[in-house]
Amino acid sequence: MKNSYHIDEKGCYGEFGGAFVPEMLQPNLTELKEQYLNILEDDQFQEEFQDLLKQYVGRPTPLYYAKRLSETYGTKVYLKREDLCHTGAHKVNNTVGQILLAKRLGKKRIIAETGAGQHGVATATVCALMGLPCVIYMGAIDIERQAPNVARMKMLGATVIPAKSGSKTLKDATNEAIRDWISNPTDTHYIIGSVVGPHPYPDLVARLQSIISKEIKKQLLEVEGKENPDYVIACVGGGSNAAGAFYHFLEEENVKLLAVEAAGKGVDSGESAATSILGKTGIIHGSKTLLMQSKDGQITEPYSISAGLDYPGVGPLHAHLFKSKRADFVAITDEDAMKAGLQLSKLEGIIPAIETSHALALLEQKTFKEDDIVVINLSGRGDKDLQTYIDYFKY
Ligand SMILES: *Cc1c(COP(=O)(O)O)cnc(C)c1O
Repeated sequence: MKNSYHIDEKGCYGEFGGAFVPEMLQPNLTELKEQYLNILEDDQFQEEFQDLLKQYVGRPTPLYYAKRLSETYGTKVYLKREDLCHTGAHKVNNTVGQILLAKRLGKKRIIAETGAGQHGVATATVCALMGLPCVIYMGAIDIERQAPNVARMKMLGATVIPAKSGSKTLKDATNEAIRDWISNPTDTHYIIGSVVGPHPYPDLVARLQSIISKEIKKQLLEVEGKENPDYVIACVGGGSNAAGAFYHFLEEENVKLLAVEAAGKGVDSGESAATSILGKTGIIHGSKTLLMQSKDGQITEPYSISAGLDYPGVGPLHAHLFKSKRADFVAITDEDAMKAGLQLSKLEGIIPAIETSHALALLEQKTFKEDDIVVINLSGRGDKDLQTYIDYFKY
């Protein structure tokens, strides 16, 4: 049987996905499940969405031929410039889509979870744009570590609520957001920030981010005379920028998909976020997927120098791409990522987000042929990571 890389009628990608949530959350999810496709496929929705992507986000983002990087590695490297999106990363593609969806569902209040604060900022941004109240849940430890993003969210008018339970990081913030949603089922929409969570979120977010691969196809056709590259490379935290960059290539089996996770201090060091490679099947935030867990099934704390990659799970689409071997999963250490980030800065004048630096590091790790077309999704810019770069390189 041919593999499908899209959800089935139960919201599953192969053996992964679904919706494992408390009964009290079912009504919210049922409403979303029954309406999201109709809304997304509605002409008026698409018109408004495409207009905002163009005029507000700044799409289409360039597909930039990186000449000096290509010369260095003896292959053809194109960078999909999601770093040039408004707010500096791909995350806003999803929040713009979901805020329009929320309005059509008649919701008057928005909640979201955030780890490093990037999704919180992207959510607070579109709430300001639409004049909707916005509550962001964020781990108390992350609030301390990510002060500039907390300030941004507040300036944009959002209320930031610290999650003080558990490890006081992303997974605890997510639990708090889910609790809020259960208590406010009729007026509130929960904007999840990646292709994670219960059905229909992974499919919803993947569709909203799929604009990335749609543009890549069109842009490659213009410059190379063909729509398909040989490789698409993207970093994976929860998996949304990779899902967007892979989406329209999933069925094109001659396009090799490379998913890059964070090895932290090394895959076997006990301090990593190489979820697919180390993970076992389990349930996290309402979805059956691969996640890092101890022998007795406790979720283990992930580690990466990059705050956007240290999620203990991965979206169910990626778990399926891993199991079915449709995508190759590679883990890159902090050290190799930081080197690759510095190299891109010096060779191309682009300072990438450290998440993205993990994807860039693959050029050093893998050999590509001279006429290979390699597209790397440049998920975000490095401004937010400047302090980490400074501390690391001792500038
Ligand atoms: C959040 C983030 C990521 C990781 O999230 P995904 O859902 O895996 O894309 C990657 N890059 C940047 C720049 C981010 O802000």
